[in-house]
Amino acid sequence: IHAPVSDLDIARAARIRPIEDIAAAAGIPAEALELHGRYKAKIDVAQLPRVPGKAPGKVVLVSAMSPTPAGEGKSTLTVGLADSLARAGQSVMVALREPSLGPVMGMKGGATGGGYSQVLPMEDINLHFTGDFHAITSANNTLMALVDNSIYQGNPLNIDPRRITFKRVLDVNDRSLRDVVIGLGGPTQGVPRQDGFDITVASEVMAAFCLATDLADLRNRLARMTIGYTYDRKPVTVADLGVEGALTLLLRDAVKPNLVQTIAGTPALVHGGPFANIAHGCNSVIATQTAQRLSDIVVTEAGFGADLGAEKFMDIKARAADVAPDAVVVVATIRALKMHGGVAKDNLREPDVDAVKRGVVNLRRHVANVRKFGITPVVAVNKFVTDTDEELEWLLSWCAAEGISAAVADIWGEGGGGPGGDDLAGKVLAALEAPRSFRHLYPLELPVEEKIRTIAQEIYGACDVEFSAAALRRLKEIQANGWDQLPVCMAKTQYSFSDDATRLGAPEGFTLHVRDLIPKTGAGFIVALTGAVMTMPGLPKEPGALRMNVDDEGGAVGLF
Ligand code: ADP
Repeated sequence: IHAPVSDLDIARAARIRPIEDIAAAAGIPAEALELHGRYKAKIDVAQLPRVPGKAPGKVVLVSAMSPTPAGEGKSTLTVGLADSLARAGQSVMVALREPSLGPVMGMKGGATGGGYSQVLPMEDINLHFTGDFHAITSANNTLMALVDNSIYQGNPLNIDPRRITFKRVLDVNDRSLRDVVIGLGGPTQGVPRQDGFDITVASEVMAAFCLATDLADLRNRLARMTIGYTYDRKPVTVADLGVEGALTLLLRDAVKPNLVQTIAGTPALVHGGPFANIAHGCNSVIATQTAQRLSDIVVTEAGFGADLGAEKFMDIKARAADVAPDAVVVVATIRALKMHGGVAKDNLREPDVDAVKRGVVNLRRHVANVRKFGITPVVAVNKFVTDTDEELEWLLSWCAAEGISAAVADIWGEGGGGPGGDDLAGKVLAALEAPRSFRHLYPLELPVEEKIRTIAQEIYGACDVEFSAAALRRLKEIQANGWDQLPVCMAKTQYSFSDDATRLGAPEGFTLHVRDLIPKTGAGFIVALTGAVMTMPGLPKEPGALRMNVDDEGGAVGLF
């Protein structure tokens, strides 16, 4: 009996090419390449040649049915699909988020794909990579030091220390920092106030960074961020403090997208990584647009299921820049369908076509939702070794009967370099040729309350929305401050269409509860909180960190 092969084992055994070779094949000239070791480089976008007549690459957005704790493999499929498109002779690039150290050391694991569909060097990408998260953490915390210093130095902006909404951040899961008191120790140590830490990926600096189209746009977004309110309840922005220049300076290298490669040698840009709940959950606009400049097809991913990730991609990211998808892939797994059909997590390995039949209502609603944006999606069934032929055949024939283009993708076990993703690649290429008429779900002129109602009813299947007293007060503030034209960023459980994580399948007749609203005026959206949202996660009882080590050569051990 062999020990199971881990993602790290596969990654370390893979042949990795010097990043200059990957860059040259992708048409990136040496002068645009800023090397970080042998296998990673930042791209100085200003140095990229303008190819006359080159149309921007088409965008393939990989999303999914409602995820389950069993894991659906969106990143794995994003990488595998890009490799399969490359195998079909297409000029293609991957665009992915950067992983956060919190989940790496905690429970969820990395975000670099899995099996033979991974980006390399996975141990670097999952750890410090090129330091972007450090830069974002520093910009965020420099801002907060400047806020507290302004209060200490006589508080010329009249900031109410009880109404500061911006927090300090660290890239770590550390529940003990959620609520802290700062400034203790006497008059020379600062002004005491209650504060707290979020994880770096929850920082508004991260969201603004990922939606910015260039450095100038980033500076404008940072300037517009609201850090809190004055004693007379007026918003205080970074521009009021006059420090947007310093923050932009701290991010001037980080905004350059990071070039790496897949196991099959496809170029990949891994850049930015905002939370998918209180932010929009996709890699940076700069990375997506850079990939569009360099290739004919960009395969990219949005966090969580299509009710959250795809909706935010279409209504937030595709408004910040011209990156609307030309095709959408909805990842489904037999395991997830069984879970939505009522099977417990521990029994998912048992063959059960009836459970798949019951759970398919979840997939059906996601497919119908994507069509509301004017795009006909392709369903990709991410094949696991436990799937039976009977289950897979039933699902494909159901898709055919519903008029849904679908393919089984075996890209985890053999990688997109093998034939397992050929069928899917063919279906995606056909979808890219099909007519589409992209539209956002709602117009920006709609009041925030109505935007939320539209998402809840059209996408989630809710019959109504209930706003708490706090949320109703906040709606008034939003209007009074002129923020009503911003899009909405829903923070909802990813496990259910409703705000109750236990209601799987395709629940109906429920009311969505909006607890509170948080204006993110720099990122440019209003977060709607349904239920409790964790912005500083904790570590589990047995954190992943317990398995980690370095070998005698300094190589990573035990990273998933
Ligand atoms: P997501 O992006 O949806 O969170 P990932 O692509 O990160 O999911 O995959 C989560 C985990 O599941 C990874 O460890 C990956 O190796 C594993 N995985 C993905 N697809 C498969 C598959 N077809 N068979 C077995 N394991 C898989």
